[in-house]
Amino acid sequence: MLRNDQLDQWDRESFFHPSTHLAQFARGEAPNRIVTGGEGVYITDRDGNRLLDAFAGLYCVNIGYGRQEVAEAIARQARELAYYHAYVGHGTEASITLAHMVVERAPAHMSKVYFGLGGSDANETNIKLVWFYNNILGRTGKKKIISRDRGYHGSGLMSGSLTGLSTFHNKFDLPLDRVLHTKAPYHYRRPDPDMSEAEFTAYLAGELEAMILREGAETIAAFIGEPVLGTGGIVPPPAGYWAAVGEILERHDIMLIADEVVTGFGRLGTMFGSDFYGLKPDLITIAKGLTSAYAPLSGSIVSDRMWEVLMRGTDELGPIGHGWTYSAHPIGAAAGVANLKLVDELGLLDNARETGRYFRERMEERVGDHAHVGEVRGEGLLCAVELVENRQSRTFFDPPNRVAPAVVGAMAKKGVIARAMPQGDIIGFAPPLCLSREEADRVVAATDEAIRETLG
Ligand code: PLP
Repeated sequence: MLRNDQLDQWDRESFFHPSTHLAQFARGEAPNRIVTGGEGVYITDRDGNRLLDAFAGLYCVNIGYGRQEVAEAIARQARELAYYHAYVGHGTEASITLAHMVVERAPAHMSKVYFGLGGSDANETNIKLVWFYNNILGRTGKKKIISRDRGYHGSGLMSGSLTGLSTFHNKFDLPLDRVLHTKAPYHYRRPDPDMSEAEFTAYLAGELEAMILREGAETIAAFIGEPVLGTGGIVPPPAGYWAAVGEILERHDIMLIADEVVTGFGRLGTMFGSDFYGLKPDLITIAKGLTSAYAPLSGSIVSDRMWEVLMRGTDELGPIGHGWTYSAHPIGAAAGVANLKLVDELGLLDNARETGRYFRERMEERVGDHAHVGEVRGEGLLCAVELVENRQSRTFFDPPNRVAPAVVGAMAKKGVIARAMPQGDIIGFAPPLCLSREEADRVVAATDEAIRETLG
């Protein structure tokens, strides 16, 4: 076995880590962590630490670590047939079964699923499908996509453009044209502190409609949004938001893409966030919870209405010019089938709802009154604690003086992993959906202690 110092040296010499300060890491100024194992909600590392992972990796290990049923399904598939492609009608028992299981769980008007590898490429697929759809219908000028400030849809060329966070654009020449960003449904940061949720929803709807009228509805193809903003700050929308958005989109014949990479398969206590908020999307993006990240797999779930037009397109043009070598990879598909079975068997939707409520209530009780806690919010097993310089005046810490990374660092020393969300001072929680009440208590206690130690 390699020694830790040898691994550390190779890590800094050779490994280009995503979302990492490259210079500090290469110089040895930023820490690394070499992860060795996982069981339930815990991971272990090479330094002998056992950490409660209250962010489930990147909100993806929904069933928890170390599930042998999924490991066995992957091993069985790898032994039988590690790979075959899915082009021109090829499939495996696993990929066909998983497609059936996904469609069975999706809202009733959805009928097909295209499989990719990760959330970013699924959103690239979605935008291509939207453009193809409008071209087949002869609406060749209807191409722009409206996303939201603080939305997160990946970090590819188009998916990174849809993302509404500046760190994913700066110096990358993004966003590409054809992408517009409307206001984030972020009530805590509303423009006027006296605005109620209903007034804020009306304001956001007005902003969206003004954008559509300014650009011309005939130029706008689709609106993309996460049911609950995730990486942009874990922000549930204000009351009535999705109903208001849905009504505007329908009136202007604009498609809806629900990006459910985080909310899909139970995180809000329902199978999809679309069920939770009553959305009627034309496309749903899925990844993460599809396999609980035991193997890479994503998908685009397609509505009946869209499917009809896609079929017409291939009658006109021949086979659809879209596909990845690894689309519907058998190992990912086998992991997905075993994972979705476990989600059902373990009752994880109920647990996300019930333990999620318990977790947020305990968090509110323990830290809600702290002078630097502006808001505790969330839905299902998503929770955020927003830190502010002054809670009365709702002043935020200046970006160079961000405090969330220090709080999260202090929590890690107590054996609990949370995430300092990339924009603002927000501590994010998205634990595995099997979290118990005792484990929730431990996360809350570590958060409370770390906030008091760091901010007084
Ligand atoms: N969409 C949402 C809502 C996400 O949260 C993410 C990742 O966090 C993505 C898309 C991109 O997924 P991936 O990182 O698998 O490309």
